[in-house]
Amino acid sequence: MEVYEGKAKRIIPLDDGKVVMEFKDDATAFDGGKKARFRGKGWLNAQISAYLFKVLERNEIKTHFIGVAGDNRLIVEKLRMYPVEVVVRNVVAGSLKKRLPLEEGTELREPIVELYYKDDTLHDPMINRYHARVLGISEEEIREMERIALRVNEILREYFKEKGIILVDFKLEFGKNERGEIVLGDEISPDTCRFWDAETGRSLDKDVFRFDKGDLVKAYEELYERLTGSSLS
Ligand code: 5GP
Repeated sequence: MEVYEGKAKRIIPLDDGKVVMEFKDDATAFDGGKKARFRGKGWLNAQISAYLFKVLERNEIKTHFIGVAGDNRLIVEKLRMYPVEVVVRNVVAGSLKKRLPLEEGTELREPIVELYYKDDTLHDPMINRYHARVLGISEEEIREMERIALRVNEILREYFKEKGIILVDFKLEFGKNERGEIVLGDEISPDTCRFWDAETGRSLDKDVFRFDKGDLVKAYEELYERLTGSSLS
């Protein structure tokens, strides 16, 4: 059996068209330049991802999520993944500051969608539809991924707003299933999104690790509790 080991997850194919996605406690940032391990992070990301996939499924978004399989593991549908990251932004943060003359925290008048080519040796460069076409991804496929990403943004932005949390930006990955449908894959967790407490602007995501803003596990636990309404203690 071929096991794919990524930086934060392990992907274990089963022989029935399903895949086990195992979330690790490892964290990396800045192209692998910063590394650490946080006990409990894998569990939190698996549970938060599962919760958010269920929210999206209830809102008619097709995702690869099938079920939770023990502590750090989700069972998901096997997809042929596109080598593309789709980023949606509502508020200026992170790498957008290098692109637009706007200050961190500025709310965008409309969401921005960006495409990145997933390739470590090239450091995940930003690409456009023309680059995607050369990579063998059609205009229709890109348009469909962008459409779903913007719909996911509408759903989750509103969902988090009700919990007093700002969905600043996030990254999605898509794949094609055996029926040829474009389906949301990978994870949706504080590793792949920016969440700010609406009152204080405090980060409840991986920026806590990237920029040494405090206790990562505490921040992820707070996000889990506010999202699910259930207490971990
Ligand atoms: P930025 O481009 O500002 O670094 O990232 C924008 C958003 O996408 C952030 O929420 C960030 O967590 C997410 N993101 C972008 N690229 C990656 C990636 O390669 N890995 C992870 N985990 N998240 C990413």
